[in-house]
Amino acid sequence: MKPSDFDYVKVIGKGSFGKVLLARHRKQGGFYAVKVLQKQMIVKRKEQKHVMVERSVLLKGLQHPFLVGLHFSFQTPNMLYFVLDYVNGGELFYHLQREGSFPEPRATFYAAEIAMALGYLHSLDIVYRDLKPENILLDSDGHVMLTDFGLCKEGVAVGGIMHTFCGTPEYLAPEVLQGHPYSPAVDWWSLGTVLFEMLYGIPPFYSHAKAEMFENILHAPLQLRSGASPAARSLLEGLLDRDVSKRLGESCDVVELQEHPFFASINWDDLLARKVRPPFIPKVTSPCDVSYIDPEFTIQPVPASVSGRCQTGVASEAFPGFSFMNPVDADFL
Ligand code: ATP
Ligand code: MG
Repeated sequence: MKPSDFDYVKVIGKGSFGKVLLARHRKQGGFYAVKVLQKQMIVKRKEQKHVMVERSVLLKGLQHPFLVGLHFSFQTPNMLYFVLDYVNGGELFYHLQREGSFPEPRATFYAAEIAMALGYLHSLDIVYRDLKPENILLDSDGHVMLTDFGLCKEGVAVGGIMHTFCGTPEYLAPEVLQGHPYSPAVDWWSLGTVLFEMLYGIPPFYSHAKAEMFENILHAPLQLRSGASPAARSLLEGLLDRDVSKRLGESCDVVELQEHPFFASINWDDLLARKVRPPFIPKVTSPCDVSYIDPEFTIQPVPASVSGRCQTGVASEAFPGFSFMNPVDADFL
């Protein structure tokens, strides 16, 4: 697999180390999201480990109805490429911003699908850590797809600990902010913040001043305005508990959420089988439809460098063994 196997159609997203492009496989014709990272930027910021973790997480052959699939990864002297399913219903964030907040049944559906995906990752000792509305996409049917495994941390069993700090402040658990050891329960806190934002339109503890928001996340009382049902408020209180030992999900993970009255309407088997009809169905007309992607990205020209044609130099030694093909794609070529 090499960059010139694809035609790069549009820029669809921007990450910390590069861009995400909509690309079409030249021979097979299928559309993919190709995440292109610049090695130089990764090495400069000493993030090789994260990127290799992203790859090894994707390599685990993760397969879940609510996780974006990886087909291939490959490298050129200057860049790393991840070839992913193109998910075109838009970021949850995009829809949430346009609508302000979601009616409770809609928020319940998304929270339930996200919880299933997180429970699956935790069962494989993977903590997602970076759950936030930008990393939650909708597919063309309206189901949730989690993307961006860059900051996932492997090898942490439920009850285990980690020490690395990363993530976006709004959605970060207090123990992460404080640099304390943390566990998969950080993801249940983050799910609480995302659910709060879906119901109330802003994240809990929000302030436009970052320092104040940090302070609020650590110390301010959780304010649950009326408008959400008692079950919703009880779930939010359970997830947004600063005392990790008491936080919902800390001892039996996703099962504790599944048993909560907020999710009483959810049939979990049907949900996992994608049999529950999504509350909102994106209006996309083709697999390469970009109507739900922020024009901020799609108006950008596709950088010539991604086609790999003008690359010279020696491959960096920092990413040995990066290239990968998903076994499900073995007969692709
Ligand atoms: P990292 O946190 O590892 O640095 P990132 O935030 O830089 O990752 P991503 O979150 O993977 O990068 O991608 C950036 C944006 O590109 C996403 O927020 C999303 O809008 C878009 N995107 C990513 N993957 C896909 C995909 N498979 N299909 C459609 N759009 C995607
Ligand atoms: Mg991201």
